[in-house]
Amino acid sequence: MSVAPKPLPTPPSAFDLLRVPVLGRLMKSRNGRLVLQLPFLAIAALLVYDGFTGAQDAARNLATVVPWVHFRGVAVIVLLLVGNLFCMGCPFTLPRTLARRFVRPRRRFPRILRNKWLAVLGLLLLFFSYEWLNYWASPLLTAWLIVAYFGASFALEFLFDESPFCKYVCPLGSFNFAYAMVSPAKIEARNPEVCKTCVGKECVNGAFIPIAGIAAPIVTAPTGETVTPPAPVGVPRVLGCPTELFVPQMKSNLDCTQCLDCARACPHDNVALVVRRPGRVLFTPEAWPKRWDVIALFASMTGFALVNAFGMVPPVYDYIRTVAGVLGATGATVPAWAEGVALLVMFVLGGVVLPILAVMGTAWLARTLTRSTARLSLRDTAAAFTPALVPVGLGVWMAHYGFHFLTGAFTIVPVFQSFLVDHGITALGRPDWSVAGVENFELIGLLQIGMMVGGLAVGLLVAERVAARLYRRESFVALLPWAVLLVCIVGLAFAVFGQPMEMRGTIYFD
Ligand code: SF4
Ligand code: SF4
Repeated sequence: MSVAPKPLPTPPSAFDLLRVPVLGRLMKSRNGRLVLQLPFLAIAALLVYDGFTGAQDAARNLATVVPWVHFRGVAVIVLLLVGNLFCMGCPFTLPRTLARRFVRPRRRFPRILRNKWLAVLGLLLLFFSYEWLNYWASPLLTAWLIVAYFGASFALEFLFDESPFCKYVCPLGSFNFAYAMVSPAKIEARNPEVCKTCVGKECVNGAFIPIAGIAAPIVTAPTGETVTPPAPVGVPRVLGCPTELFVPQMKSNLDCTQCLDCARACPHDNVALVVRRPGRVLFTPEAWPKRWDVIALFASMTGFALVNAFGMVPPVYDYIRTVAGVLGATGATVPAWAEGVALLVMFVLGGVVLPILAVMGTAWLARTLTRSTARLSLRDTAAAFTPALVPVGLGVWMAHYGFHFLTGAFTIVPVFQSFLVDHGITALGRPDWSVAGVENFELIGLLQIGMMVGGLAVGLLVAERVAARLYRRESFVALLPWAVLLVCIVGLAFAVFGQPMEMRGTIYFD
């Protein structure tokens, strides 16, 4: 029988959220995540209900207003200021948790799919279908999208051992993973020395809930690994990390849903949720995997930031008509199939192919200019500078989603009142549809400029540090192509945001 050592002191440099009285205990408690998930589940159920049964009016239905005006805007701000709270409270994993009470799948997700390429594809399909099928204008389609999310999550989690939906597929999760790289909250081992002597590695393997202080049993598997065996009937089991991260080796928030299963499973109370300066990981080279799929994910997220915004400004209609004309659809109205082809080309090229080629081309140029081709591979060069894309992309997303959120922030009040009135409840009064959000467009424009310029400044700083680390005296030459790339991205964003943007999902647009 092993005896759990006394809880360790929090490292002096870090503020550990799990050490905060009441909050820490609540977060680590067996049902701590449920406290966040149940409200999210209730909201999702409300959206699906209103989407299926309410008026099919985008600006007056909870199913369209909440996800497309409020959720996205709040999500990017929370990611920057707090952490991946939305994955922590994600209700889509609840059916999985339920299923795991009855069945424990042993099948592994196919090796060929265990990377971020599927996530890039998922993001592409989501952004493309959002634009083509106009989810923002259809409460019914948005409700179906939410139902499909629950279904896909349940099916994959039911079939496979790890959490492939969260780690490899979910577009929302991929977005959160990518930009949680700048979040201040991160899982860490309180004392890495304890992990070195830890036998069960319960943070990743899972553990039985200790009964009367008895630690989880450990067995030696045929492979020689020490693992926790399946719980005997009637003894509850704490799952290990669903995305198979090993706490003492975690360098960043990539793939971490902040579910805190690791903290619940660790028998040594050695898992901390530390809060540090936002963006710190951008300057931590070892936090960035040298993998093409990860580089592609971050490049695509930056491309999608531009293309998604471009889909909401008037020139996109000229583009669609031009492509439709090339395809022979020259009537007064562009047929849906021609619009679909035009948008698919736009998202594939602008969101995936060109951003990846731009990153590869810039890495090639930097290597050539600094004559470092023998020393640094193309992949390693691209991976080293990938962190610089994160603040630039996040700045563009914030300018975009922040615009919709600020201009429609208060629309939730009349939309909710309207929902209640439709169901015979007038206690909160009748909706005042003149309530919208910030109407000072000059102020919003200034904020957008601040977000994009701020993102560019941090991106340039990150690129400068990487160049100094890798190239020393030739760092300025190496930095130049990356600086040009980052400035071009933000320049394109300025060109897009300089156009009048559609007021989607708010009453202005009616
Ligand atoms: S975090 Fe806990 S369970 Fe994981 S290796 Fe360290 S001591 Fe063991
Ligand atoms: S490391 Fe794994 S178990 Fe721990 S919070 Fe992150 S996703 Fe959850």
